[in-house]
Amino acid sequence: MTMFELPELPYAYNALEPVMDEATLHFHHDKHHATYTANLNRALESHPELAEKSIRYLIAHLNLLPEDIRGAVRNNGGGYFNHALFWDMMAPEGSTSFGGPVAGQIEKDFGSFEEFKKKFSAAAVSQFGSGWAWLVWNKDHLEVLSTANQDNPLTEGKKPLLALDVWEHAYYLQYQNRRPDFVEAFFRIINWDYVNELFEDAKKSRKCGAAE
Ligand code: MN
Repeated sequence: MTMFELPELPYAYNALEPVMDEATLHFHHDKHHATYTANLNRALESHPELAEKSIRYLIAHLNLLPEDIRGAVRNNGGGYFNHALFWDMMAPEGSTSFGGPVAGQIEKDFGSFEEFKKKFSAAAVSQFGSGWAWLVWNKDHLEVLSTANQDNPLTEGKKPLLALDVWEHAYYLQYQNRRPDFVEAFFRIINWDYVNELFEDAKKSRKCGAAE
């Protein structure tokens, strides 16, 4: 039976400093992400028929899952998937820059990078309580939205390209209650190369997230 594994960070724990410090990344990855992973695996133990399904499939098809584990997969599978995406969506400051096909699409759909940044930041700052801000590909255009808890836009058929975790555990050690400062700083460590990869993949597959 496939067990989901906690992915390793694609960089050192201190590689995102000063925007995201080492202690925050240790807690966030080693404790929070590890717990979502363990709880997802525990939920799936009782349903070996789902063993070969990818996390993208599970999150895209929550409505088809057995009722007794649907909530657990939504929360813990969402937590597992969201964080795996999130680590790859960040990179050491200065290692990538805004550009590529997604930059052109952002300018087309939002008018300018500054307008996009304003929208994304507003979604991140105004999300009440725990949740995420997203840039997603919706069939033929980009959208900014926010979700509560560990919900992922893929469940609604929208493909995630960029995500920002605004649960307090994502920033409280370093920024305390200053979520807007955390959101502003996040823009310095976005991995635009990976966002472009996700954008290319999203445009290729016509089925919304159902490819796997
Ligand atoms: Mn988190």
